[in-house]
Amino acid sequence: MQKSLETFLSEKLNQTEEKKRLAIVIKAIAESVKQVAIMVGTAPLAGQLGKLNNQNVQGEQQAKLDLLTNDCFVANLEACEAIAGLVSEELDEAILLSRDTSRPNYLAVFDPLDGSSNIEVNVAVGSIFSVLKVPSGRATQVADFLVKGTEQVLAGYAIYGPSTLLVFTFGEGVQVFTLDRDKQEFILTQENMHVQEDTQEFAINASNARFWEPPIQQYVDECQAGTTGVRGKDFNMRWIASMVADVHRILMRGGVYLYPKDNKMPLKAGRLRLLYELNPMSWIIEQAGGKSSTGRERVLEIMPTEIHQRAPIIIGSKKEVERVVRYYQAFDVLK
Ligand code: MN
Ligand code: MN
Repeated sequence: MQKSLETFLSEKLNQTEEKKRLAIVIKAIAESVKQVAIMVGTAPLAGQLGKLNNQNVQGEQQAKLDLLTNDCFVANLEACEAIAGLVSEELDEAILLSRDTSRPNYLAVFDPLDGSSNIEVNVAVGSIFSVLKVPSGRATQVADFLVKGTEQVLAGYAIYGPSTLLVFTFGEGVQVFTLDRDKQEFILTQENMHVQEDTQEFAINASNARFWEPPIQQYVDECQAGTTGVRGKDFNMRWIASMVADVHRILMRGGVYLYPKDNKMPLKAGRLRLLYELNPMSWIIEQAGGKSSTGRERVLEIMPTEIHQRAPIIIGSKKEVERVVRYYQAFDVLK
């Protein structure tokens, strides 16, 4: 028997008001994902590809679809009674919503379209989301978003590829749902995902090699040396440059994804954003038995100071991430 998202939520999140309201949040996100799937699928027909002339708060040129997908998530989440605040990659400031403070309320943080710089070449893009709890009994403050990733109560992503998938965790493993396009309904297709501990695949933007720190140079050199080096086995390299697609591959068949600190742009050392890219992906991979680190600390333990802050990441198969962390420790001791 196929299990729909609706049925799954009514079985797993029906005990308390807190859980029931979290289920409502998941439904609002799932609704956004369905709409975005249609949007990205029909963008060339609707004349919605291409860049705009404006930049977002992070100085990145926005694509038309960045804004359209952002508007879609904002509309669905603002209409959700259990959501009391929003932060989006595409919005400079947090949106605070007034809600009944006697009830359990949540904050949604999201990247509405990850990989949008690749949208013209028709590779998989995605959406990433993270949900936090509002401290009970009071209105939302911007500071409520500035908590460690360990405080997340829901995290996940959608990937718009050959299939549209919705992948999420609320702390009881990682489940994968596939969109039935005819019925416009998500169906549970994989349960309790587990990331292989060992791997022979790594993913890094090698064009930045000259800006890497020695631990990353060493790790990649050793992978490339393959059977002729200390690793004693050959590796493959993969790099889609769409974080969702790269991390999804790791969830499915193992591997390690590295966007390390480098000295290319010292102010953007670690390019990806903590709240709505690194934290949700880190929790997903940890829930599936993998690891996620900056090289020097667990990503989920970083205390954020601003909503759009960036951090480095090494994420994926447990033993590979642990190896990179050992190289950092050895390097930092010598410094
Ligand atoms: Mn992104
Ligand atoms: Mn984005």
